[in-house]
Order: sequence, then C-alpha cells, then structure tokens
Amino acid sequence: MKTALITGISGQDGAYLSQLLLQKGYRVVGLVRRSSNQEKASERLRWLGVEKDVELMDGDLTDLSSLIRVLAKVQPGEVYNLGAQSFVALSWQQPILTGEVTGMGAFNMLEAIRLLALKSRFYQASSSEMYGLIQAPLQNETTPFYPRSPYAVAKLAAHWITVNYRESFAMHASSGILFNHESPLRGIEFVTRKITDGVARIKLGLATHLELGNLEAARDWGHARDYVKAMWLMMQQESPRDYVVATGRSVTIRAFCEIAFGHAGLNYQNHVRVNPAFFRLAEVDCLKGDATKARERLGWAPETTLEELAAEMVEADLRRLAQK
Ligand code: NDP
Ligand code: GDP
Repeated sequence: MKTALITGISGQDGAYLSQLLLQKGYRVVGLVRRSSNQEKASERLRWLGVEKDVELMDGDLTDLSSLIRVLAKVQPGEVYNLGAQSFVALSWQQPILTGEVTGMGAFNMLEAIRLLALKSRFYQASSSEMYGLIQAPLQNETTPFYPRSPYAVAKLAAHWITVNYRESFAMHASSGILFNHESPLRGIEFVTRKITDGVARIKLGLATHLELGNLEAARDWGHARDYVKAMWLMMQQESPRDYVVATGRSVTIRAFCEIAFGHAGLNYQNHVRVNPAFFRLAEVDCLKGDATKARERLGWAPETTLEELAAEMVEADLRRLAQK
C-alpha cells in the first residue's frame, strides 16, 4: 500500500487530493496545525466524505522538529507540500509569516526528508503568481518569473529550493506551477468564491450588493479536482520535473461575474460595486498558462469548463445558505 503525506490537508487542494489518493488505494496522512476548533480543520474533508478515511497528525511547517517526527513515523512514499499562507492580499499584512510558512516551510520539509535519508518523492505547490508582472503573454516552464507580492516571492523561494534539492541531492522533487484553481471548497476570501457566495446571497434575498476590487484583472481558472490529478501524475513519473498546469483560457473578474450572476438569472451590473479597498498594492494583471508539457508528458488535460465550474460553485453556495 502506498503512503502519502499531505501538508495543507485541511485546505481546498488537500481535500481533493485526499479523495483522489484514497480512490487509488493510498494510505493518506495529513499534517494539521493545532487548532482550538478541530471540527473546522476537517470541514472540507467532511464535505467530500473522506474525513474518516484519512489520518491526521499534528505538526507545523515552521517547526522542523514536528516535520521530522511525523516523517520518521509515517515513512511516506510521496510528500505533497500544499501547506501555505495562500492568500496574496494578506501577504502584505503578514509578510514575515508568509515567508516563514509559504517559503521556509518548503525548506524545512525538504531538509527533514534529507536528514532522515528518506526516499520520499516530493511535490511542491508552486504558483502562477510567480510570473506576476508577466514577461510573455502565455506563460510556460521557461518564462522568467517576476513576483509581485510577498506571497509570490515566498513561493519563488520554495520553487527554487525544490529545484535545488533535486539537482543537489538527486531527490525526486517536482514543482507544479499551478494556475488559479477553484471549487466549492475554495476559501471565501478568494475572488471566485466571494462572487459565487455573493450571487447566492443576492439570489436568496440575503444581500443586494457585492463589493469587489479590480474587475479588469484576468486569471486562468480551472477546477481543483482536475488539478490534483496533475500533482499525482507528476509523482508517478520516473524523473522529477516542473510543470505548468493551466487551462489556457484567461478571463477577467468582470467576465467571471457575468457568468456566475448569469447562472442565477441575475445581471451582475445591477449588483457589483467596486471598492478600492480591495485593490492590490501591486497587481498581477493577467495570467494565462501554456500546459503543453503537462499535456504531452503527463497526458493531463483539464476536464471542467469555466462555465461548469462557476455553475457548480453557485449551486453549492445556494445549497449551503439555504441549509443555514
Ligand atoms: P488553502 O489556503 O485552501 O490551504 C492552505 C493549507 O495550508 C491549509 O490546510 C492550512 O491549514 C495549511 N497551513 C497554513 N499554515 C500552515 C502551517 N504553518 N503549517 C502547516 N500547514 C499550514 O490553499 P489551496 O488548497 O487553495 O492551495 C494549496 C497550495 O497550492 C497552497 O500552497 C497554495 O499556495 C498553492 N496554490 C494554490 C493555487 C490555487 O489557485 N488554489 C494556485 C497555485 C498554488 P489551516 O486549515 O490550519 O489554515
Ligand atoms: P490570486 O490570483 O491568488 O490573488 O487570487 P484571488 O482570487 O485572491 O484574486 C484574483 C484577482 O481578483 C486579483 O487580480 C484581485 O485583484 C482580483 N480581485 C478583484 N476583486 C477582488 C476581491 O474582492 N477579492 C479578491 N480576493 N480578489 C479580487
């Protein structure tokens, strides 16, 4: 039986990846931070119906000793490092913490694997935010990076230390440069989920307006369920490599509003207000990924359209609010 250790198991991707690996017959162990509310830590796993099938162990990416302890006990064949302070906007308010968790966390995990001389394969959750001020209209594995937030700078450090440990210690370490991916389990602070939650509130008469920031920024959005398959595929390759994972379609926040409000029979123009408080200090205007390498080498392709994704998210938020 294969064993996987997932950091960030309580997050969006951690939940979908757990579900995928369990379906494949893995023993799935997740690293969780101590919380005063353990119910909350398992919320997404519960939503997908896999809460009882995973093992949770206490640990923190900033605490090397906890990583060593967990790795020594679990001896995982695969380590998926998904844990992070993952919200770009917050990274300007908590840059040091973001550096420590999102950046140094990867150093700690790689170092823990090396110190224990484990043969674990390692996956690093890199991000399209590393392209930031884009240096090419379509970004692939050879496009230069230009990070635009403390989050992106931290992710870039984590990305390069993954490459470096692969080259220095012949570790099976891969970095997935994933473009934005969403789902009904996306954190409420991210723009897609904020929009679909807003649509549901307005539809149910719980609100009349939704305040957003820059509507002209564009993102290449896919479904988290599709993207965790790419993570797993990377770990099954004989040689470790870095891969861009994206749909190749980029649309503005405005266009996403049109799709999501439209799904509920609403016109976004009647409900969306721009509030500059939500503008970024340095914006990433447009991201559009070229996943040719993942398609050719991994046989990976996105299976969900943006319209299907938005519809699934709006429907889930309508159900959630109706239940409340
Ligand atoms: P989430 O924000 O949903 O999940 C982040 C996870 O990290 C949570 O489980 C959180 O635990 C955990 N975490 C936070 N701090 C620590 C810490 N100090 N020690 C251990 N774990 C910690 O992110 P996603 O699931 O959306 O993303 C997964 C990864 O992929 C992240 O690294 C993210 O930056 C990256 N990524 C995401 C993209 C996306 O579009 N979703 C795009 C590209 C990269 P807790 O529940 O306790 O807060
Ligand atoms: P990111 O790409 O990881 O930063 O994901 P987000 O979903 O947080 O933001 C995507 C884009 O949406 C960015 O360009 C934001 O400036 C833009 N945006 C516009 N309004 C909002 C808002 O109200 N909240 C968030 N989170 N982003 C917004």
